[in-house]
Amino acid sequence: MKNTILLIEDNEQNCYLMTFLLESHNFSVVVAMDGHSGTRLAEQIKPDLILLDIQLPATDGYAVAMALRNITSLQHTPIVAVTSYAMVGDREKCLAAGCNGYIEKPINPETFVGEILPFMPSAASSESTT
Ligand code: MN
Repeated sequence: MKNTILLIEDNEQNCYLMTFLLESHNFSVVVAMDGHSGTRLAEQIKPDLILLDIQLPATDGYAVAMALRNITSLQHTPIVAVTSYAMVGDREKCLAAGCNGYIEKPINPETFVGEILPFMPSAASSESTT
């Protein structure tokens, strides 16, 4: 069974690129374009990992991460923040909000999947199939 990644990202080009890269590595990708629908989808599909943009409309990624962590069934789901914020303290802010890791935009297509694999609970098994 494929591992499912929920991508919460409001930029269509980023969605397209990240979905392409992840599907190329045999992941199943579900996209939400705002935090509210992302939170609802996460509760429904219980993804293996959540990729979370920080700069989102209405509700920012920090608030979304905290909302996700308040859902009992998602307390241990890995959340990796993806953000162009490069200010000192943002990494800590992501981690304080409940994220497990942090990837900076723009993403590097060569290394992107490798960067999130360490956060994937069953990384080894999914990689061996590619
Ligand atoms: Mn964004």
